[in-house]
Amino acid sequence: MSDSTTGAGHGPALPDGAGDGTRAVRAGLPEPVKHEPTLPGPVFAAHFHLPGDPTGPYTYGRDENPTWTLLERAVAELEAPGQDGVEALVFASGMAAISSVLFSQLRAGDTVVLPNDGYQALPLVRAQLETYGIEVRTAPTGGDAQLEVLDGAKLLWIETPSNPGLDVCDVRRLAEAAHARGALVAVDNTLATPLGQRPLELGADFAVASGTKQLTGHGDVLLGYVTGRDAEAMAAVRRWRKIVGAIPGPMEAWLAHRSLATLQLRVDRQNATALTLAQALRKRPEVTGLRYPGLPDDPSHKTASQQMRRYGCVVSFTLPTRARADRFLDGLRLVDDATSFGGVRSTAERRGRWGGDAVPEGFVRFSVGAEDPEDLVADVLRALDESAD
Ligand SMILES: *Cc1c(COP(=O)(O)O)cnc(C)c1O
Repeated sequence: MSDSTTGAGHGPALPDGAGDGTRAVRAGLPEPVKHEPTLPGPVFAAHFHLPGDPTGPYTYGRDENPTWTLLERAVAELEAPGQDGVEALVFASGMAAISSVLFSQLRAGDTVVLPNDGYQALPLVRAQLETYGIEVRTAPTGGDAQLEVLDGAKLLWIETPSNPGLDVCDVRRLAEAAHARGALVAVDNTLATPLGQRPLELGADFAVASGTKQLTGHGDVLLGYVTGRDAEAMAAVRRWRKIVGAIPGPMEAWLAHRSLATLQLRVDRQNATALTLAQALRKRPEVTGLRYPGLPDDPSHKTASQQMRRYGCVVSFTLPTRARADRFLDGLRLVDDATSFGGVRSTAERRGRWGGDAVPEGFVRFSVGAEDPEDLVADVLRALDESAD
């Protein structure tokens, strides 16, 4: 295999301080090789030629794959630009990545602090951790309330902004308090993406995310990743991936890497429209509980503006009743009634239909896509009008 497909050669160094768009289009590309593609295609291989002593990097497809290597480099470059020693590992999904950190770092008798308003699968994770004899404490994301329950914890799990409530906590403050008590800190960076927030720079030990959402942005790939600086901790995460086998297919990994090239374009467009939409919703009397961390008067804005560079594409709000929310969603023409978020096509859903989140029946989580902002806002305002009693 040539260097370009093994990923053994790093791409040309980017100029110091290169912007997000420049980094996004070049992240993880191998050194140019004449007659080779810019981004080598997916390597479909369960095993690799391996005569003699079984030395890496590529032996068996559950352990390593050249397509992952390039994507992992790209993710590390985006999560921790210019930082040496940061490693990234890709997974089959966000939950695979999250589980790999929790289950590789915690032992029976340990205590972990989770948010009580985070991703809806966390309660399932909690129940599983408890069956292994791990104590789980929870507290809300807002007001840095996790600080109150840190004593004796081995690991602090942060999700900011939280999904779906969009509360924000001060990562630096929480990380300092956790480290002072000897605890590791992981941040779920799904909603912000690495262009919105860089948890490792804010002091976290792990930045973990679902790549299914805005990172890949087309609603056609499931993916997750873990990045971290502590070699020993990352070795345990890698070992967990090997044991559980929650690995991405080469096609998914390649599609994700290809999608990263447009990350800055998508994020800037979607996030700007999210702010425009939030501003339009603010004027509507039937809308309550409007949340967007980029709105200057949002309760999260002050903390968000200190640690985030972009505020995400998700806006959440509450309509007076479940029926009103259902009629509103039904009336939207440019917005698919679907779960997940971050895609180029806008989606929205009544979050209460899942039953997992502590939200009112009329609560809507709205993910802003890449449509023309005026078209999208007009569609939303029309659907609001038409759904009135
Ligand atoms: C979607 C999501 C996850 C889970 O990711 P999958 O790729 O669906 O496994 C985890 N955390 C947050 C904040 C999410 O939005």
